[in-house]
Amino acid sequence: MSIVVVGTVAFDTVETPFGRGENVLGGSATYFSTSASFFTDVSLVAVVGEDFPDEHVSFLQGRNIDTAGLQRIPGKTFHWSGRYGYDLNEAQTLDTQLNVLMDFQPELPESYRDAEYLFLANIDPDLQMQVLEQVRKPKLVACDTMNFWISSKPEALKKVLQKVDIVVINEGEARQFTGEANLVKAARQIIALGCKRLVVKRGEYGVLMFTADTVFAAPAYPLEEVFDPTGAGDTFAGGFMGYLANTGDLTEEGIRQAIIFGSVMASFNVEDFSLNRMKRLEYKEIQARFSNFKALTSFRDVSL
Ligand code: AMP
Repeated sequence: MSIVVVGTVAFDTVETPFGRGENVLGGSATYFSTSASFFTDVSLVAVVGEDFPDEHVSFLQGRNIDTAGLQRIPGKTFHWSGRYGYDLNEAQTLDTQLNVLMDFQPELPESYRDAEYLFLANIDPDLQMQVLEQVRKPKLVACDTMNFWISSKPEALKKVLQKVDIVVINEGEARQFTGEANLVKAARQIIALGCKRLVVKRGEYGVLMFTADTVFAAPAYPLEEVFDPTGAGDTFAGGFMGYLANTGDLTEEGIRQAIIFGSVMASFNVEDFSLNRMKRLEYKEIQARFSNFKALTSFRDVSL
């Protein structure tokens, strides 16, 4: 089954203690679709400006991503600048230039409108809603967001959160959105808005997944070399949704398995800047890391 994703395709300028990348390829939809493309067909809805090089579009197409919904309009591509300190869990945004995002009117190609899986990646919640309204009968809709939209468009964002099945969000953003310091209570509040499931991304501490009556925890893969956490959240979401679309298994067990594939994909992405690690990633590496993940979290039950 294929996934439609709307989000940003961006130039990022990123500084970490291990290096700096200037105007490198980034964006929530870029990371998401690249990661999901290892599991399923992906159709991209996004906007870039006249300054966006063809080579980046060719990279996405080379991963078999449908770019019919990628508009190129006059102006400059969305640009995000951020910095990470030695605590790589939290990005500090230095600058956000919305540029062409301000004039973007997403118009889904007819072939996208019957998509069964829809991911509303981090972008203006009004744009997320416009895309949601154009997909006829999705089987599963999930969304992400970030502090920038929580502060600037809280009401529009709340409307989106009320219409999706799964919310995927950072720990800090779950706290910011609800004004609740305790994560379990924050999760309850977000679920009470109407979604069935909340996936909280916690950087190097892994992921917590909440439903109204269950909690599932997965660690992050313990890595010796982490160079750039940019895109880890979107890459996680791409692996998670990609695996779900591939199997169609929306049982609790199937969704837990998808959490691990998301975590595997994110663990590769942080090993290099921009999408460099994803560009050289091979299936056999994904399989091997999945097995290591299983070993990492497997233990015997007690017989009392
Ligand atoms: P993450 O997976 O959370 O690390 O997301 C990183 C990506 O989000 C970067 O490649 C940025 O281009 C993109 N980004 C940063 N700020 C925004 C924003 N306000 N809206 C949408 N995308 C953004």
